[in-house]
Amino acid sequence: MKKYNFNAGPSILPDVVLEAAAKAIIDFNGTGLSLLSISHRTPEFEAVLAEAQSLFRELLNIPDNYKIYFVGGGASTQFFHIPANFLGKKAGYVNTGVWTKKAIKEAKFYGEVEVVATSEDKNFSYIPKGYTIPEDLDYFYICTNNTIYGTEYKEDIDSPVPLIADMSSDILSRPVDVSKYAMIYGGAQKNLAPAGVSFVIIRDDMLEKVVRPLPTMMNVNTHVENNSMFNTPPVFPIYVLRETLKWMKAEGGMAEIYRRNVEKAALLYAEIDRNSLFRGTVAEEDRSLMNICFVMSEGNEALMPEFLEFAKSHGMVGIKGHRLSGGFRASCYNACPKESVEALVACMQEFEQMHK
Ligand SMILES: *Cc1c(COP(=O)(O)O)cnc(C)c1O
Repeated sequence: MKKYNFNAGPSILPDVVLEAAAKAIIDFNGTGLSLLSISHRTPEFEAVLAEAQSLFRELLNIPDNYKIYFVGGGASTQFFHIPANFLGKKAGYVNTGVWTKKAIKEAKFYGEVEVVATSEDKNFSYIPKGYTIPEDLDYFYICTNNTIYGTEYKEDIDSPVPLIADMSSDILSRPVDVSKYAMIYGGAQKNLAPAGVSFVIIRDDMLEKVVRPLPTMMNVNTHVENNSMFNTPPVFPIYVLRETLKWMKAEGGMAEIYRRNVEKAALLYAEIDRNSLFRGTVAEEDRSLMNICFVMSEGNEALMPEFLEFAKSHGMVGIKGHRLSGGFRASCYNACPKESVEALVACMQEFEQMHK
C-alpha cells in the first residue's frame, strides 16, 4: 500500500535526495569509496560543504554580513549555546510552547530571563502579539514555528535588540527577511536532512558580542573561524542537506516551494473547517503551514481512535498529534507532495460519510 508520510520529525525527504544519499554511501562521486569512509578534509567533501552553504545563502537570500555554519548536537544544544555566548545580564523570550520552554530553562543557567509574552493561557494555540520588547535585553528570542502546537509567525518581527530565532521546523519553507535577525538556527531533521546536524546563520556583529570565556566547542567564533570544520562535522547529514537544497533549487526555489506549502495547507485547513467531524485547534491567523493540528469536533471526541485506525488503513503515517496537544497533526514539510494532502482530505471526507 502507498504510504503518505506526515511524520513531524525526522520527516519526509524527497525521493531523489534519498536515492542520491544511498548512492553516496556506496560510491561517493565516483571515487569508489563510501561518503562514510573518507576524511571530511578532502577536496570532495569540502566542495559539498561549500555548495551546501552557498545554496542555503541563495535560497534564503542571506545577506553578505552573515555567516552560516553546520554543527552537531541538534537544536537542543543551541538552547544553551545561545545564552552561553550572548546572555550577559538579561534576555527576553516569547514562550510559545515546549521548545521555547526548554530554551528558557537552559538560558536561566546563564542569566536573567524575562518572558516578555506567552500563549500558555490558551494551551499555546496562538502567537502572542501587541507586547513591547524591552530595550535593555542582550537578545530577544522566538521560535517561528511551533512544531507541537501548530502555530507559526507569519511576519518577521522588528526588534530593538538582537533577534534570535529557532526555525527548526519552518526553515526554507517560506521566504524570510534574514536582515531582521541576528541569528537563525535549527535542527535540520524537519525540513532538510536526517538528524545529526544543525544550521546556524549568524550576523557578523554578533561574533564580537560573546559575553564570557567558553569551552572551545561552545564558542560561536570557533565554528565560524573554522568554517564548520573545527572537529569532524556530521558529514552524512550535511551531504543530504546539500542534496535537499539542490532539489529545492531545481523545483523553482523558495518562491515555488512557498507557493506549494501555502496551497497544501489551504487544502487541509479548508477540509478541517468544512468537515463536521473535525475542528482546528489554532487561532486562524497563526496556523502553521508546516504542522497542521486538528481534533475531533465537539461531541465526536470518541471517534478519535477509529479515525486514527481508518487513516492508517488508508496509508496515512504520522498523523497522531503530540501527546501534549492531543488529536491529530499532519506535518506538511517541503517534500510532502500535494498528493499526500489530497489523500488525507479524501480520507476525512470518507470518514464523515461513514458517520452520517
Ligand atoms: C524538533 C525541534 C527542536 C529540537 O531539535 P533537536 O535537534 O532534536 O534538539 C527544537 N525546536 C523546534 C522548533 C523543533 O521542532
